[in-house]
Amino acid sequence: MRAASVNLYDLTREELRLRLVRWDLNPFHTARLWNYLYLQLADSFDAMPELPARVRARLRADARLGVLPTALATDSCDGFTRKYLLTLADSHRVETVLMRFTGRVTACLSSQVGCAMGCVFCATGQMGYTRHLTPGEIVAQAVHVARALRAAREPHRLRNVVLMGMGEPLHNYEAVMQAVDILGDAAGLALGAERITLSTVGVVPGILRLARERRPVHLAVSLHAATQAERAALVPAAKKWPLDELLAACRTYSESTGRRIFYEWTLIEGQNDSAAQARAVGRLLRGLPAQVNLIPLNPTAGYAGVPTRTEAARNFQLILKEEFQLPSTVRQRRGVDIGAGCGQLAGAAAS
Ligand code: SAH
Ligand code: SF4
Repeated sequence: MRAASVNLYDLTREELRLRLVRWDLNPFHTARLWNYLYLQLADSFDAMPELPARVRARLRADARLGVLPTALATDSCDGFTRKYLLTLADSHRVETVLMRFTGRVTACLSSQVGCAMGCVFCATGQMGYTRHLTPGEIVAQAVHVARALRAAREPHRLRNVVLMGMGEPLHNYEAVMQAVDILGDAAGLALGAERITLSTVGVVPGILRLARERRPVHLAVSLHAATQAERAALVPAAKKWPLDELLAACRTYSESTGRRIFYEWTLIEGQNDSAAQARAVGRLLRGLPAQVNLIPLNPTAGYAGVPTRTEAARNFQLILKEEFQLPSTVRQRRGVDIGAGCGQLAGAAAS
């Protein structure tokens, strides 16, 4: 790879058209090239025979296709989850997960190598931050999943994307939004913003920017605790963006977009799973359009906590529903046997 070469997955269709013009090629070829990239899922310029030789020669000289080779692929024993560890051009690795829910295929994409936010229970947080992903590296993960589905002759195509893999997407705002634009192109993967859910640890300026720009992605906010002190102990980023500012930003977001927010709550036994804590979150979210996603902890090497027992999770959910009319789901612990908790596969491969 030459440093100056352009990763085609970095470009929107319009940017690709302008590139062709700059390369003195007929922009007429944009549609066919785009089709090769995102419908035929070509994995090399050789797999684009209908492009004129002159176009392919120019692409070989000045562009690259940032396909991400698989370092490791693991299936969970429940058969619903497949996890890939993909290799970036600089040899760093990121995780991408393919999940199947009742006929729907969802790709869980990473947005950074590691993460700077340091949540104590998270394998990615325990690794620390290495770098942001480029838009093309985010897009290439979705292309990887789409290609894997086709190779396996699966009847379902990729329908949804969640930005819940390694990294904090709002810490890498520009690249993530460029990727959202590329993924959403109706002539390509057609994963419009309404099919995309972005999960944030609570980067307040990013939430306000999403609200201002009215980007119609679904928003999930990782809450995990209902008081500033309890939250800061689990999520160090809460010291920078305190709970009251976070809630105010969520209110602004919901008011200006008319959208409900998903609030994520990783259930850790004895830490944040008591009836009193369920009532505290109920009170905290009162009046906000909200749904709570309860996620039993996936144990990680760097954290001593254990997952909440099923009974306590049910009780937590019942309190939210009966006392606060707050809808919630308990995430099924799919893929736990393959370490499909955020950052766990890369962490294991690195150790
Ligand atoms: N950085 C973003 C998105 C990636 S993490 C964020 O924090 O929201 C996606 C979700 O997985 C977050 O809610 C996070 O708190 C949760 N998570 C991370 N590690 C986990 C673990 N070991 N067990 C259960 N949930 C975990
Ligand atoms: Fe980063 Fe999210 Fe992990 Fe926290 S939970 S360390 S924000 S990836």
